[in-house]
Formats: sequence, C-alpha cells, structure tokens
Amino acid sequence: MFVVASPEHASALLDAGKLGCPGGAGALRPHGYGRIRRVRSLGHTPVTVRPRRARCFSCAVTHVLLPAGLVLRWADTVEVIGTALAAKARGDGRRTIAARLDRPASTVRRWLCRARGPHADWLYEQGVQHAYRADPDILNHDVIWPTALGDALNLLAGAALACQQRWDSPLPVWTLIGLFTRGRLLPPPLRI
Ligand SMILES: [Zn+2]
Repeated sequence: MFVVASPEHASALLDAGKLGCPGGAGALRPHGYGRIRRVRSLGHTPVTVRPRRARCFSCAVTHVLLPAGLVLRWADTVEVIGTALAAKARGDGRRTIAARLDRPASTVRRWLCRARGPHADWLYEQGVQHAYRADPDILNHDVIWPTALGDALNLLAGAALACQQRWDSPLPVWTLIGLFTRGRLLPPPLRI
C-alpha cells in the first residue's frame, strides 16, 4: 500500500509507466483494483473509492494506491477523523464531538482511544519531519499543547500550511496530513 496525493494524477502516471516503485528503482504497472471502499466525508456525504493496484516488475510487490484523504481501514475520511481529534485536543468531550459531526459517540470513542499513547508520539514525529522539510522555522515557534495529540496535530497542520505556501500545493490541509501520515492518522481499528 502506498498513499497518493491525487489518485487521478497517480493513475495517469501509472498508465504511462511513469510511477516508480516505492521500494526500489523499478516502474509500476497497472494490476487491477483493490476492493471498493465506501467512506463518509463531513456531513455524511458518501465517497466511493476503488483504489487501483500496481505491481512492480522488478521486485514483484503489489501495491494499492490509497488516496491521501482516506485513513487505512476506517470508514471516515481524514478530514472527519482529524476534525474529531483536533476538537479533542482543544478539550471537547466525545459527546460534543459526536453531536457536531453527527456520528455515534461510540465511534468517536474508538477514534480517540486509537489516537492515544504511542500513536500520538508517532504522529508528532511525522509532524517534526514534515515541518522540517517544508519550513524548519515552524519548529522554533512550536506552541506547547497540553497533550501529545495537540502537539502532533499543531505541527502537522503547520507543515501542511507551509507546504501549500512553499510549493503552491492545491491540496487541502487534511489531504496533506493524510499524505504526511501515510494513511495512518489512526492505526487500523482493533478487531473485536
Ligand atoms: Zn519494486
């Protein structure tokens, strides 16, 4: 699996044989499609995605091209889950967040639980790396938040805004954050 900023652009490159293998020097070739995914964006607008698959002739590995707006194996977009995490970092409770996003409180609870602990530290690491790449000055003016999750989201958002300015990226902030976190704004859900 690898995450692509723009599925249309990646698709065109793939068809032209110009998409490189993330694991080496080989070029990827079209290799069918991954399973159809139905996710919800803000306000329940359903999004149906059929991610393309690609295979590398050099290392024989198959990759699914996951659009950066999605979170691997979760049914809501990066924007929805990210909005919930940001609200939590600002101090909102899960019932408030659930009501605002019109999602069950139990769903919001699962997101918030998965974002805690080592994952918040991992998100922070991604924030540091991408902020450093886009504009190292962000790291000098980093505001300390009461929680690791707040720190992480603040840095990721700073890196995304710097990326938009520096490279004139048309991608929305949450899509860039999806790209920075490689489809793992949350770790995959626990199987119950
Ligand atoms: Zn390869």
